[in-house]
Amino acid sequence: MSEEVIVRFPPSPTGYLHIGGARTAIYNWLFAKKHGGKMILRIEDTDAERSTEESIQGILDGLAWLGITFDQGPYFQTEFTSQHMAAAEKLLATNHAYKCFCTKEDLEAKRETAATDKGDYKYNQACRNLSPEQVAAKEKAGLPYVIRFKVPDQQDTVRFEDKVYGRIERAYVDIEDFVIVRSNGKPLYLLCNVVDDIRDRITHVIRGQDGLANTPRQILIYEALGAKIPVFAHMPLTLDLNKAKISKRSHGEIVAVHFYREHGFLPWALINFLVLLGWSSGDDREIFSQEELIQAFSFEGVNRSNSIFNYRKGDPKFFTDPKAININAHYLRSMPIAEIAALIKDDFAAEGIWNPLYESTQREWFLQTLDLIRSRFHTLQDFARQGRAYFADDFPIEERALEKNLNKTPELKSWLPLLAARFAALPDFSRENTETAARQLAEELSVKPGTLINGARTVITGQLAGPSMFEVFEVIGKERVVTRLEQVGRFFGGADL
Ligand code: GLU
Repeated sequence: MSEEVIVRFPPSPTGYLHIGGARTAIYNWLFAKKHGGKMILRIEDTDAERSTEESIQGILDGLAWLGITFDQGPYFQTEFTSQHMAAAEKLLATNHAYKCFCTKEDLEAKRETAATDKGDYKYNQACRNLSPEQVAAKEKAGLPYVIRFKVPDQQDTVRFEDKVYGRIERAYVDIEDFVIVRSNGKPLYLLCNVVDDIRDRITHVIRGQDGLANTPRQILIYEALGAKIPVFAHMPLTLDLNKAKISKRSHGEIVAVHFYREHGFLPWALINFLVLLGWSSGDDREIFSQEELIQAFSFEGVNRSNSIFNYRKGDPKFFTDPKAININAHYLRSMPIAEIAALIKDDFAAEGIWNPLYESTQREWFLQTLDLIRSRFHTLQDFARQGRAYFADDFPIEERALEKNLNKTPELKSWLPLLAARFAALPDFSRENTETAARQLAEELSVKPGTLINGARTVITGQLAGPSMFEVFEVIGKERVVTRLEQVGRFFGGADL
């Protein structure tokens, strides 16, 4: 690509940062990085009634958390109103636009007639051919007007080559003379968006497929303003399993970027997941480092069919798309443990289990423990929740663990204290020694070692399954292991054997 690539992410600040919007930002960012280009953040706040400060902040926070950085911006569209109006004036002056004095009532009546005639309603161009004198007279009489774009009347077609959807054509006759400035003097989004893209010298417009309907009209504006038309690449929509567009109304917070932040996702894991919603590398790869993704990303890999956000309500284990959870788990298992330690600190503090010594004398133990327990975890929060028993003496017991590992074998009420005594007598509380001691006791009692070990797991960690118990004994430490084993009686509700 010879000219410098310049892309933009122009969210409308009317809600939180949605995962669909974030995905568009990520595609733009990857494309800019791949081509050594620039990315601009433009907040499209033209719709003043729906734009909020809170939403702007949410978008900025969400992008910052994801690590999506910009070379320019944020700009605010409303800062450029005079440029939008100058463009509208230019379109009027060059006869590419006209003032339309039709009242709302006029238009409403026409629309109704069209509806009863079953015809598609299109503005009938009543004001298109008003003479300059007629226009002047109406203006003088103080009649309000909108400015409409004058769609050329030759038998032609808007054509463009979308990088994802291929050749797109739209006949001029199917495009109505659309409004570019409202009667209150406010320029409309369709115009502002193009004027901003021209000013910012945007070379590639990468946006959601829902923007495709606007593109032919926007191309007409580019042409009328004599500007270079950028490359368009529309990204497929993301639907749910019922083929409905994912939205806050029907899906709640799981479509918000902040949901993933609050639920212990790593930003890169979310990016990796979102990129795969609509794009594939052509091989089976699903895990990408930043560098790999930048290299691999191209429009050829973007699917034309809508992507599916695989989410079923109800199962708390799959509180969002299982693929997102699995990708997050992958990164949790493989990233440097010291990074995890830094990321979970606040969560530990909030759960009342943070100990400042984890950053000094107990750091080695802390990191070793996090490393041991992470293999089954899916989110950062699992460390403080499911892993609580490693850091505190008050921890929850999984119902299923209680049933399966303890209640089925009431004898454990006396066996586990025996194991405690064997452990207490060990001079060196190493993995090898606890394993030998546990196996020996099992043999003497004629029970399977697993029965003892799983019983021990439940009273020591509260969990049904987990890492090798001999490693667990080691990190939890002799004193706490012995005490918890001795206290097994509390799980049997005082029932006598
Ligand atoms: N503000 C528009 C939106 O949020 C941007 C569309 C575009 O990228 O052109 O949908």
